[in-house]
Formats: sequence, structure tokens, C-alpha cells
Amino acid sequence: MHARSPEVVVSEVGPRDGLQSIKRMMPTDAKIAWIKALAATGLPEIEVGSFVNPKLLPQMADTAEVVSAALQLDGPAILALVPNLRGAERAFAAGVHRVTMPVSASRAHSLSNINMTPEQAVEQVAAVCSARDSLAKSNGAGRRVAVEVGLSTAFGCTMEGPVSEDWVVHLAGLVAKAGADTVNLSDTTGMGNPAQVKRLFRRLHAEVGNKAGGAHFHNTRGQGLANVVAALEVDVRTFDASLGGIGGCPYAPGASGNIVTEDLVYLLEAMGLRTGIDIEALVAARLHILSALPGEALYGHVPEAGMPKGFVAQYAN
Ligand code: ZN
Repeated sequence: MHARSPEVVVSEVGPRDGLQSIKRMMPTDAKIAWIKALAATGLPEIEVGSFVNPKLLPQMADTAEVVSAALQLDGPAILALVPNLRGAERAFAAGVHRVTMPVSASRAHSLSNINMTPEQAVEQVAAVCSARDSLAKSNGAGRRVAVEVGLSTAFGCTMEGPVSEDWVVHLAGLVAKAGADTVNLSDTTGMGNPAQVKRLFRRLHAEVGNKAGGAHFHNTRGQGLANVVAALEVDVRTFDASLGGIGGCPYAPGASGNIVTEDLVYLLEAMGLRTGIDIEALVAARLHILSALPGEALYGHVPEAGMPKGFVAQYAN
């Protein structure tokens, strides 16, 4: 464990969000070696996979094995994505610290992504939370698994276009009432802008109070880090990112997936915000992706340009 808690939490989602959008499979051993290297950088959270139907996402079929190896590491919280109760039961059995559940604000995206309406997805959140509560009870003083919900397509949908902000805020309230510990907002499609980010996170906080969580931005249109700065200004303190921004669309060169962890940590540290994460160790961890998935496109400006002369990071202070 790191001596001081970070001022901003960077949550690495590459092994889940990145790998699930890449058709090729990363071998289990390579995933585990990569996650080990990520943990050694000081990352406080890693989303290591998802418990979904392996027929739909064979890349994630080994998640239980990956979770069990990741739990041996000293330090990071280990998260997994679960779309429903069945996935959550597998995640609880594997021993994850937290689960994240996607609830799409866009009806069309929800149906195509998890084959449920947003209302049905909220029912799944309620079912998962009550399963979590009875498990915690039967464990006596045992640990309680936190349930995080990410509202996907909160900033726009490729199918529906703009998504109503009133609806996103209403949905956040429903999810909080269903028992979620944290409600995050996800710009799944990279359509968000900084003004919208500020507005929506302010409204999220007004609706769900201290259950208001972090931001999940994609850099599809290059707005990712601008959106991070906007979110920081309204006190968002947790950000998802993926190493090398993996998972970008192969048909749109330069359009990366998640915001790039290396660039995000650099931004935060340069602004004087302690992350606890060693940037150079992050850059070195890219080799794990390249050796397991040769030729895979990696993004990021800091890894290209290197650290500027005289740069002092906060993580070592
Ligand atoms: Zn995503």
C-alpha cells in the first residue's frame, strides 16, 4: 500500500475496456504480467476484465483467473465489469473488491449493448446490490463489495445523437436508490465537451450527493483531457483511463479509445495533483501490450515526447 492517498484517483481500465474492443486475444499469462506491471506503477485501481457471456466476448473468458492473480498483488483495488446478476455472482465468487455495472442512458445503446432497456438495467443494479448485501451479512464482519454504476452514453450516443441531460440525472437518481454506492458518468462515444461535462457533473452531485463518482472519457474527438480539466473544476476526483489509449477504432486512425493513462497522469502531476503513479514506469508498461499484441496501435503524447527537462512529479513527494 502507498503511504499517502492520492489527491486524484486514476483507475486503469485498459485490461477491460481496451481489450474488449480488440478482436485479437491477449493470452492470460500476458494479461497477468501486464496487470502486475500496472500495479507496480502505483495505480490505485485496475479494472481487470468483465464477467460477460464468453460467447459474446471471448477476450474476457479468462477474467476469473485474471482476478485471482491480480488479488495477489499488493496495492491496487481490483475491479471487474458485470452487466447483470449472473456476472456479479461470478465476480463475487472470484473475490473482486468492487464491481462496475454499465447502465446506458441511451435506450438504443442499452438494447444493443446489454439487451436490456435502461429500466431493466436499473433492476439488475437493484438485484446485484441486494445479493451483495446478503453476501456481506452471511460473511458476518466480512467485506462488502462496492457496486459502482457507470452511466454510459451520458454525453451522447452514436445511434440516438444527443441524450437528454434531465433523463441522465433522473437515471442517476434511480441507480442511487437501487443501492449503488457510486454513480459515474461515461462519455462512451467521445461526444462530450467541457461545458457539458461541468454542467452534468454539477447536476449529478445535486441529485445523488456523495454517491456522485468519477468520469470515464473516451478521446474519440480529442476532447478527453479538456474534459478532465473541466471535471476537476467541479471537484470530480476519479478518472478512468487506459494505458496507450488502447481500443481505438482501426478504421479511424488517431481516434483512440479511452483517454491515455500516461498523458492523464502527466496532466495531473504537472498541475500539482498527486496521483501516486510513476509516469516512466507507466510508459515502460506499454511493452507488455506490444509484445502480446504486436502491431497494436498505441496512443499518447507523453510517451512520444518524453518528460520535459526539470519536470518534478508530485507522486514522489
Ligand atoms: Zn469506455
